Parts: sequence; C-alpha cells; structure tokens
Amino acid sequence: MSGFETVVGQDQALRALLRILKSGRIPHSLLFLGIDGVGKRSAAVRLAMACNCICYAAQQRQSDKSSSDNPEELSDYPCGQCSPCLRIAAGIHPDVTLIKPEAGVIKIGEIRNLCRILSMKPFEGHERVAILSDAHLMNPPASNALLKMLEEPPEHTLLILTARQSADLLPTIVSRCLHIRFNPVCRPALSGALIQNHGFGADEASVVTALAGGSFSRALSMKKATWMSWRGWLITELSRLGSSPFHVILALSEKLSKNRDALSDVFEIILSWFRDILIFTCDPSHVINRDHLEHVKEASLRYSRGDLVQSVNAVRSAQAHIDARTNTRLSMDHLLLRLWQLQNTGKTGIR
Ligand SMILES: [Zn+2]
Repeated sequence: MSGFETVVGQDQALRALLRILKSGRIPHSLLFLGIDGVGKRSAAVRLAMACNCICYAAQQRQSDKSSSDNPEELSDYPCGQCSPCLRIAAGIHPDVTLIKPEAGVIKIGEIRNLCRILSMKPFEGHERVAILSDAHLMNPPASNALLKMLEEPPEHTLLILTARQSADLLPTIVSRCLHIRFNPVCRPALSGALIQNHGFGADEASVVTALAGGSFSRALSMKKATWMSWRGWLITELSRLGSSPFHVILALSEKLSKNRDALSDVFEIILSWFRDILIFTCDPSHVINRDHLEHVKEASLRYSRGDLVQSVNAVRSAQAHIDARTNTRLSMDHLLLRLWQLQNTGKTGIR
C-alpha cells in the first residue's frame, strides 16, 4: 500500500495505533508528535481508512483477529482495496478532511469550516475523520476555535492532529488529546528502505542517512541528482574557506542565504564537515562524507580541537539566529567570517 514505508521503523507508534483499533474504543482526538518526515500523516491517513474500511469492519465483526500487536499488521488494517480505502488514499472521501497550512499558517476560517463539517453526521462512512497536519502552525484565533470543538467533540468524529512537539500547541489542546509519539527513523531502517525501495547506492544511502536526522522525507529530498553535487560543491567551498579572499566568502554567504528552504541542509552539511574533521584522527571509518576523505584529511591538519569546537558552536549559534528569523544574510556573513578566522588561527593541526 502506498505510503506504508514512510512509517518504517515506527514500531512503537504503530503498536499503539493497533491497540486503539483492536480495542474498538477510538478516542475523539489524537495528537501525533514527531519531527517532519517520520510518517505521522501517513499513519493518520491509514487510521482514517481503518475507521471506514468495509473489509476491516467485516473482519472485526467475525472475530477480534489475533491478540498480537505486531506493527506489521497495520498493513492489514485497513485493506487498502475497498472503495472507501481507495477514495481516502486519493483524498476524495466525503467523510475524511485533510487540513494543511497555507503559506505556513492555518487560519480560523479553516477551523470554522472544519467545525461545520464535523457537526454533521458521517455522509456514508462510520466515522468522520479530520487530519490537521502541522497543527502547530495554527494561529491563536484558529487554536481557540479548535479548542472549543475539542471541549465538546461531536459524535462519530475523530480528529488527528500532527505536530513536531506538544510545546508548540496550546496546553489546553494538548491535554485533550491522546498522544502518540513517532521517533526519528533509526539509521539501519532508513538506510535499508532507501536502498531497497528508492534506488540509493550503499555509499549514497550512508551519507544521506547520516544527514537526514531520522527524517524519511528529508532523506528522499536528497535523492535528487543535483543535491549530491550541490553538497560536494559546498564541502569543497568549506575546505578552502581559510584561503579564500573576503569577496569570495561574502559571495558564498549571499548564495547560501538566498534559498531559505535549503538552509537546514546547509547547516547539517557544515556540521557534518566539522564532525568529520574531528573524528578523522580517531577513526576515519566513521567519517560521514567518505567521498571527500582527502579534503577531510587535509583540513584535519589545519585545525586545533578547540577551534573545531568553536566552529561547531558558531554554526549552532547562526542556526539559532536564523531560526529566530533574524537577518539571514547578516547571520551567514558573520558565520562564514568566523569560520574563516578559526581556520586561519589553527594552522598546527588537531592537538
Ligand atoms: Zn478497505
């Protein structure tokens, strides 16, 4: 069934969902928590299918199925073949509503419309299901409107919220939901899925897995042919940063600052670069950017450990400033000039 692999390695979360399904006591509101790209929305769609699947309902009437809670069984709950399942997967079932942020925000109009829909009885299914994706992007009026509905949930409705962390939502919303946590996908599971299902080579999967931070969707975004060559370009620029004139550093800063969507990748790559230099002298086999081993080796001769730690701190600090929506270009200028300075002070190698 499409989308199941996006929850690979999420045994704990899937077991919790299975237990809810088998109990037959599905709560009115669930909160799926975890970083982006770990299968929260995919699991929510699957649960919506299970609530309305004709085949699953028939099976349930016959027996309680098995008493095991093997997470693989979620692929049998629901069938994925009946009319409701197919229409839910296609996003055209009248009793399943998916709300996503528009331009980075969920506004009150969306929530009011959702409340109106959920106040009606299911059109054809057993349960109305609403999936509120990235619920942490609701603005305050939208959050308050949702809270009112959660205080008096309509019959035959299931509301599934997804968010990165509960702290990003109103505590009064959080306290009214049953929480299911989706952990970052572990490296072996992520790497295996990339190789088996997405045509990654072993070396490429190793690099991507190390940089993806346990996010399946992020790993897949790195599959683009241009991404690997872009990463190679950035590592080359980092390796010669100390010998670059100021105007080249400022031009690099301008280039990196322009694409805000790529900044998280930029920071991960820079951090992996310094991590590799630090680890190279201890155990070169653990270097992430193995295809740039010569660059890493050369760089290890230019830094002291203290300078490397300061470099990492400078990257973390710039990342925090940019996440806090300070001036991206200024933060990047400051970072690259600081890294230039540190590369030029540590000329005697790791010590
Ligand atoms: Zn079905």
